[in-house]
Amino acid sequence: MNYKNKVVIITGGTKGIGEGCARVFVDAGAKVVFCARNQDEGDKLAAELNSLGKGEAFFVKCDVSEINEIENLISQTVEKYGKIDCLINNAGWHPPHKPIDDFSVQEFQDLLNLNLVSIFAACKFALPYLRKTKGSIINMSSLVGSMGQIHAVTYVATKGAITAFTKALAIDEAKFGVRVNSVSPGNIYTPLWQEAIDASENPEKTRQEGDEAQLLGRMGTIEEAGKLCLFLAAEATFTTGVDHILSGGAELGYGRKSRVN
Ligand code: NAP
Repeated sequence: MNYKNKVVIITGGTKGIGEGCARVFVDAGAKVVFCARNQDEGDKLAAELNSLGKGEAFFVKCDVSEINEIENLISQTVEKYGKIDCLINNAGWHPPHKPIDDFSVQEFQDLLNLNLVSIFAACKFALPYLRKTKGSIINMSSLVGSMGQIHAVTYVATKGAITAFTKALAIDEAKFGVRVNSVSPGNIYTPLWQEAIDASENPEKTRQEGDEAQLLGRMGTIEEAGKLCLFLAAEATFTTGVDHILSGGAELGYGRKSRVN
């Protein structure tokens, strides 16, 4: 797949799925602007990607919970490259699992800001440029946004909202030629997943259950996630308003669902 000289913004691009996107898009010849909160990790990845002799990588420090930092990310991209062809809203967080009783209202509001309002803001600020290029938006949702997940009411609510937001925006932006899609990963092995493994009572068992949740018997890789996003940006020109499940078949078939706790 070729995305030569196209300009893509990836939020949360230093690790995990965002890093996979950055690697795959640079390999396809794109000019990748990626953000995260850790400057050193961003600089290090940018230097590595720029040494490959394919596309380009440019890191901008940005906390997507801060609206002015998202505005700065968009304006720095346009200042440097003059256009935006694709926006990948990937940055997000899954808090540790617990029942609703143990989540505060403030925790939910903070997660909404991080996982959902940031996407609204990035789309709003990037769309004037995406309309000029007839570009596309890819929002990172989650399989659990449509399936639910134990002890994760706040996260699941933000992800379900991302999928719904994507469909509504796709309707409005079609007349400008901008496609808007979401990707719903199941289990992709990333530092976020490793965090969950480390926080569990039995890390080895948690990793094994993570692998065995898929028909394919393993978690997905960050590059596999990047390749789906590149396909959506570069090739899937008749696709908009669709939630693309990237799950290794995790949602298929009956399984034992009842639990005592
Ligand atoms: P990850 O391994 O934790 O990586 C997250 C990336 O986002 C890092 O580069 C991190 O860098 C950055 N980030 C975190 N908070 C940020 C903020 N406030 N502002 C800017 N950047 C921020 O996560 P992941 O597993 O790749 O997940 C990426 C996305 O996919 C999330 O939206 C997640 O909900 C979704 N997802 C993941 C899975 C999975 O199995 N991994 C499944 C379904 C959905 P800094 O910490 O330096 O900011």
